[in-house]
Amino acid sequence: MKISQILRSNPVTISMEVFPPKSDVKLDSVRATVREIAQLHPSFVSCTYGAGGGTSQYTVEIARDIMEEGVASMAHLTCVSSTRDSVRSQIAKIRSAGIENILALRGDIPKDMEFPSRRYYEHAIELVEQIRAEYPDACVGGACYPEKHPEAFNKDEDIRHIKEKVDAGCDFLTTQMFFNNSIYYNYLYRLREAGVTVPILAGIMPVTSRRQMERSIQLSGCVIPPELAALVDRFGDSPEAMQKAGIIYASHQIIDLIANGCGHIHVYTMNKPEVAEGILYNLRGIV
Ligand code: FAD
Repeated sequence: MKISQILRSNPVTISMEVFPPKSDVKLDSVRATVREIAQLHPSFVSCTYGAGGGTSQYTVEIARDIMEEGVASMAHLTCVSSTRDSVRSQIAKIRSAGIENILALRGDIPKDMEFPSRRYYEHAIELVEQIRAEYPDACVGGACYPEKHPEAFNKDEDIRHIKEKVDAGCDFLTTQMFFNNSIYYNYLYRLREAGVTVPILAGIMPVTSRRQMERSIQLSGCVIPPELAALVDRFGDSPEAMQKAGIIYASHQIIDLIANGCGHIHVYTMNKPEVAEGILYNLRGIV
């Protein structure tokens, strides 16, 4: 099923993100984990594609597993380190697997890459246009950044590029993680003011370890509010306590978003079924 349709028919949706293994050594265990998450029946599950500009050979396979569990799935696709032909064949692979939803991303620029390069892509908008041309029926999503993309000069410039990307054919946007809902509300207001009218899924990352929080800041540059920093300070050395506190913090963020009319939530599960389950448990009776 198309995500655009799911978002249209449900004022509140809780979707989840999983990631594929880097090598086939862990393929079976990741597939089992993803199936466990899909069996919780979130609104849909998305599967990432590589990281740091890399690609992944398992994204489509895992997205198919999700569909086999009766859950709508979305394959992420990046383009920055791929040629037009390799992207074309990946789009064809996604299409022939029956996957109707693609998150069109540029990907991070690999450290050793000459950028911009004539052979490759510069921005996600080029990928959105290519998907629209080669798989016109696909439901296409894009990424957006409440605290601005790290490469953007300022928020206005970043939002201008988001508007162009949406106009090129995005049906919805999913945000980078954020830990302070006020930042999201302010961003949403600015997007709407700029004429971006598609649904914006709020990306929520449950922080379940000190290391994960440090890595998140490093990758996304997002601000850690004092309340969350205090939790990590107090419970960061106790995995069980930190996981519980992280699930509660994320659940609180989600409840506040829903209460304020922002009902489309995308949870970064980090392939942890117990975290996904804990969040859904906390939301029972609310969604
Ligand atoms: P773009 O939309 O191209 O934006 C990148 C930068 O370029 C921004 O600063 C923007 O303002 C600027 N820009 C855009 N268009 C123009 C233009 N025409 N002229 C000048 N500047 C422009 N990475 C992965 O490798 N795999 C994944 O599966 C993955 N999933 C993600 C899921 C979500 C929800 C998010 C938020 C990010 C994800 N990422 C993933 C990370 C993403 O690939 C990086 O953040 C990447 O650096 C930017 O990708 P983008 O699609 O937002 O790029």
